[in-house]
Amino acid sequence: MSTKEEHQYAKKIKEQAYNLGFSLCGITTPESPLHIEEYHKWLSDGLHADMEYMGNDRARHMRANPKDIFPECKSILVVASNYYQGEFLHPSSDAISGKVARYAWGKDYHTVMKHRLQELMGFVECVSGKPVRYRLYVDTGPLLERELAQRAGLGWIGKNTMLINHNIGSWTLLAEAMLDIWLPPDEPYIVDRCGSCTFCIDACPTDAIMSDPRRIDSNKCISYLTIEHRGAINSDRRSDLDDWVFGCDICQDVCPWNNRFAMVEHDVDFAPVYPLPHLDLHNLLQMDQSEFSRTFSGSPVKRTKRSGLIRNASVALGNHGDDKSIHALANSLSEDPDPIIRAHSAWALGKIGDIKAVNLLNCARDNEDDVDVLVEIKAALEELSSQEKKQ
Ligand code: SF4
Ligand code: SF4
Repeated sequence: MSTKEEHQYAKKIKEQAYNLGFSLCGITTPESPLHIEEYHKWLSDGLHADMEYMGNDRARHMRANPKDIFPECKSILVVASNYYQGEFLHPSSDAISGKVARYAWGKDYHTVMKHRLQELMGFVECVSGKPVRYRLYVDTGPLLERELAQRAGLGWIGKNTMLINHNIGSWTLLAEAMLDIWLPPDEPYIVDRCGSCTFCIDACPTDAIMSDPRRIDSNKCISYLTIEHRGAINSDRRSDLDDWVFGCDICQDVCPWNNRFAMVEHDVDFAPVYPLPHLDLHNLLQMDQSEFSRTFSGSPVKRTKRSGLIRNASVALGNHGDDKSIHALANSLSEDPDPIIRAHSAWALGKIGDIKAVNLLNCARDNEDDVDVLVEIKAALEELSSQEKKQ
């Protein structure tokens, strides 16, 4: 193929990517990432918290050497889907609700984007007139995908570590196709348009954003704590979660590039699927495993598993502090089969601080035999007693 034909070929592929619903599409090479040392430092400083799958030898090696994932790779196509659906709609009822990050309101993006990429690969083969070998990754492969996107010209990596595009902002999800054909790479996006802005750093409620170098301390980040972290959430961090039960959008909500340029995407696959976007926290506490699986089948929210989501709902109810929640939390504390959920319900009862809560915690203590839950009940009773003394 001549250079001109190669550029026409790449142009056709990008046009088809847009036809399939992707908002951005660029091409880069499988060279080692420039920021790999920073990434290794992030790991060695323990900022990936307990996401061990990121720090194991294989993951480190693959991220440093994309060619070793797929030795035949000559080009990487990077695509982005805009999932922005507008501002948080207010809940239609007066139910006490929890917030979910926007990217998880609709269908599971892994499925949606993979399906679109597969269709795009059919087109690539059709235009090239020969079989094309490829590997597809939607947030699952050992790739530094934001750097690849920046190298493919899609945008810059902001201080909040998100990829930001000057036309549509950062409400995007990334995916990659590693191809065994050569395509002319796009110019990297080299301008940093954050400038002197620090809105995201100032707005982060947990001080999780570090500016030099740009990185997130996952140990503090609400997104990590509500989605990736398994087991009990450190009691010092629970109040930080506020009413977020899955992810956190704060550092994107405040970004001027989103406020000025985010475009509402009427992409049906990312439109909220009931009961999202607002989850009724009392309903969540009553969900057994089969109802959880039925409700969140096909939704990114299922990643937390029942234990994580209902743990988060208990914490959010504690943070709401509404005494209407006492009954639901007491039921959860006495009935839920999962000790992690019972422990966080005990904490939430302690936060709500009411004589009824004290009686219910005392009663639960007499019937509880899990050591960790008993510790939480004791801590909640002590908290309530110290509040009473202060009054
Ligand atoms: Fe901070 Fe939330 Fe952004 Fe995490 S997602 S860095 S907690 S604002
Ligand atoms: Fe950059 Fe400001 Fe957006 Fe943060 S809020 S990513 S500093 S432009």
